[in-house]
Amino acid sequence: MKIAFDAFFSRSYSNFQRGAREGECVKIEADELGHKGPKRYAKRRVSKANARRNEGYFRGNNGKKWGLPVSYCTAIRDNLVDPYNREYHDHEYGFPIKSDAMLFERLILEINQAGLSWVTILKKREAFRTAYAGFDPKRVAAFKERDRERLLADAGIIRNRLKIEAAIGNAKIVLKLAAEYGSFAQWLDANYAADLHTWKILFKKTFFFTGGEIVREFLVSSGYLAPAHDDDCPIYEQVAKLNPPWMAATDKGKVRRS
Ligand SMILES: [Zn+2]
Repeated sequence: MKIAFDAFFSRSYSNFQRGAREGECVKIEADELGHKGPKRYAKRRVSKANARRNEGYFRGNNGKKWGLPVSYCTAIRDNLVDPYNREYHDHEYGFPIKSDAMLFERLILEINQAGLSWVTILKKREAFRTAYAGFDPKRVAAFKERDRERLLADAGIIRNRLKIEAAIGNAKIVLKLAAEYGSFAQWLDANYAADLHTWKILFKKTFFFTGGEIVREFLVSSGYLAPAHDDDCPIYEQVAKLNPPWMAATDKGKVRRS
């Protein structure tokens, strides 16, 4: 399930605030707040609203009622989210991905989401595709200093030096894996694991900027880890028909057991 209520996160909410209590002072990357210049961090006191989010509550569209957290699927069904998230949930989330460019795109978008809401990334996706050469790993791996400058100056994307470096560095790694395994997808298949912990260790030693949450979202959203959708979500059946890797592996397990 996609971070269930990230659609409600304001720009002032970030990973730095996760787990913090009301009134506590936290550091936020200045870039997230749109600050320009050398300042790297801004200090913010955790608001009551963000403290409630940390307790797992969310606020619906009516803006008044606080409720218990709901799954991504429920939020979509109840019209609690924006059209960007709805499109993504209905047509992409949990659907298997075969092309390396699409897998690379998903990984880089998840990395760029760190500290921001998913809808912010979805809104910027077209600009991301343009800026990162259609997420062709070959082209991104060949980015030079002038490309870094261009990306840092591009207001259409997330201008964060670490995230930009991670994209270029990871493109080089994807190329290496593809040379050895045939493709990025084949490397994922060759290393298939049913548990997140094994994946986290693998990603940590292989890629840049791949914390646990990024790895989890990347794998769930691309069909490598189950389940993206609730059992009663109408999209569940659509995804199942495409036999995503996690489902294929479960089937294989069944064959072995019988
Ligand atoms: Zn769903």
